[in-house]
Amino acid sequence: MVSRVIPVDPFDLVIFGGTGDLARRKILPALYRRYRDGQMPEEARIIGAARSELDADGYRAEIRAAFKEFLRAEECDDQVDAFLERLDYLPIDAMGEGGWPELKTKMRDGVTQAFYFSVGPSLFGALAERLHTNGIARSDARIVVEKPFGRDLGSAKALNATLAQHFDETQIYRIDHYLGKETVQNLMAIRFGNVLFEPLWNAQYVDHVQITVAEGVGVGGRGAYYDKSGAMRDMVQNHLMQLLCLTAMEPPNKFEPDAVRDEKLKVIRALQPVAPADIVRGQYNGNDGPSYVEDAETPDSRTESYIAMKLEIANWRWNGTPFYLRTGKRMKARKSEIVVTFKDTPHSIFDEDAGQRANILSIRLQPDEGIDLSVTIKEPGPGGMRLVDVPLDMTFAEALGPDAENVPDAYERLIMDVIRGNQTLFMRGDEVEAAWAWTDPIIEGWTERRDKPAGYDAGSSGPEEALMLMHRDGRRWRDLT
Ligand code: NAD
Repeated sequence: MVSRVIPVDPFDLVIFGGTGDLARRKILPALYRRYRDGQMPEEARIIGAARSELDADGYRAEIRAAFKEFLRAEECDDQVDAFLERLDYLPIDAMGEGGWPELKTKMRDGVTQAFYFSVGPSLFGALAERLHTNGIARSDARIVVEKPFGRDLGSAKALNATLAQHFDETQIYRIDHYLGKETVQNLMAIRFGNVLFEPLWNAQYVDHVQITVAEGVGVGGRGAYYDKSGAMRDMVQNHLMQLLCLTAMEPPNKFEPDAVRDEKLKVIRALQPVAPADIVRGQYNGNDGPSYVEDAETPDSRTESYIAMKLEIANWRWNGTPFYLRTGKRMKARKSEIVVTFKDTPHSIFDEDAGQRANILSIRLQPDEGIDLSVTIKEPGPGGMRLVDVPLDMTFAEALGPDAENVPDAYERLIMDVIRGNQTLFMRGDEVEAAWAWTDPIIEGWTERRDKPAGYDAGSSGPEEALMLMHRDGRRWRDLT
């Protein structure tokens, strides 16, 4: 299956923080892949801007080295030189006044204009203001901002207000890279492109939904940063919330930015407050390496590296169907998936021990993106009516044939959407605020109660208490392996 490549319009993309980890590891490799595929036109230009005193050649050398580290060897062909020709650089301090006039002279008329704020959120305001006061950003310019978008409702509102001083909501692209994943978009294709699933997608037929984002790695290296955030702020408020919204939302009337985002917002607003008994927080022990508190270098830290919770969505579609979310560091395996478990048939015509099981639709985000639906069939052979589950598997690697290696990285899709001016897969300001409004009381409750996370062994499936969260409802978490 070869996908069509439609080139985007010529653009000037300025990457503030162009020498940083995200730019070197994700943004520029993604742009290179789009260039190599013919989607980024020859006239496109990328201008790195950061505090380092580099010239364009120095910047190109840095990015060439980054490509050696972050691209597959076979991708680094003769296209690298041609791509690097499209790169320029300016030393600019977001808080200073130098470099802005030079940036203005580099921007071209008649091409799409985008500014990627790949810097900490404390610099967003300074960048927005200087782009404006120096007359650089046009009224149709786009800005891209990264997570974290605030650490609570107050700070998210303040960030939104700061950006709104100089940019309209239609110009602001808040990235959640989970939305750029092929499988996540496929969740919408599966739900709304087939007649099979949508009639069953409700509390009458769905027993429960599990959303898991498990990581094998710990917080080592960024422990000090992570300790101020924790799994709730770092993963649940944004990534898991987005997956929940796409799974639970009503069909939008069109696949258009505001139609989709309106429906997502309604899901967040319908979330019930979560009782303390429906949340389990955990912190990994260092049985085969450093423990969480050692990684975080805070011996008495109460920050969670794991969270599991049971959510209820108070609307007609989902009343009575729980959504179980879990995410953690140093887990048994790296695995992200959305699993929809359907109810049993109303009546079974087979013997009790025949082996009939509920249908399960699982949408795998990583490591191997794909979708499978377990269905019950008769076990082949003459041994009577024995039933088995078999997966109807749509592994993207197989569906894409020889192009399997080229399942695009989320950033490839999202950056091209910025250039195309399509905000569907980006979070709107009110969505982010609604997610914080739901999150804040939960975190405040922990602080008031001086809640202490339960310990769990590194390399395990999480704390015992999280297993109990499921067992008490007569359900179990999917295995992580
Ligand atoms: P980084 O520390 O590696 O890089 C920061 C960049 O910002 C550097 O280029 C630096 O020169 C530049 N910078 C810092 N202060 C500046 C100033 N005053 N003026 C101009 N430039 C300045 O950080 P990063 O990992 O690249 O992350 C950038 C942003 O993206 C952060 O907000 C981070 O939370 C977010 N983010 C990063 C990742 C990731 O994987 N690295 C993932 C998601 C979100």
